[in-house]
Amino acid sequence: MDPYPKPLKQLISQLKRLPGVGEKTATRLALFILADRDNLAGDLAGSLTTVRETIRLCSVCYNLADMPKCSICRDPSRDSSTVCVVEEPSDVLALESAHAYKGLYHVLHGLISPMGGIGPEDIKLPELMDRLTRSSVSEVIVATNPSVEGEGTFHYITRLIEEKKLNVRVSRIASGVPMGGELKYMDQVTLASALRYRRNVK
Ligand SMILES: [Zn+2]
Repeated sequence: MDPYPKPLKQLISQLKRLPGVGEKTATRLALFILADRDNLAGDLAGSLTTVRETIRLCSVCYNLADMPKCSICRDPSRDSSTVCVVEEPSDVLALESAHAYKGLYHVLHGLISPMGGIGPEDIKLPELMDRLTRSSVSEVIVATNPSVEGEGTFHYITRLIEEKKLNVRVSRIASGVPMGGELKYMDQVTLASALRYRRNVK
């Protein structure tokens, strides 16, 4: 016999569709939402609808926005000559929280993956090239993850910029040994990338 009524079971199965949420967590969350006395269920339902209706992609950088341009592209104090290319909107959030970058972004919404059947036209790469051709961007920092796809996408962007003879410098974010990390605990990919992106000190 199933202990839960159908609508509750439905909520549990919907919550299970979220990343990292299994049966146990979904059940706990559903029961919590149900028992909450401060109208969490109503607030959640409202927020979900508002997010669906108002959030769109920035017309310049394809970051998430609630206006035609995102808050970063609208900020006149940002350096519009530098564009940092990232895979997902969450990468913008991560870089912004470091407070170390004052330029603009370009969100690809994916990476080139020949194995996964994702080509350059399937992500916001033509949009990036169009943007570089039309604007006065002088440097592109490619901040894709140091994975096979991230590296492949970086090399593809570099080649396109060279082919089109754009006057744009391309750089890659450094990756490798993290602060406080020990070499003996690093995996091979991390160590290889740490060596590849070593920096000169004199
Ligand atoms: Zn934007």
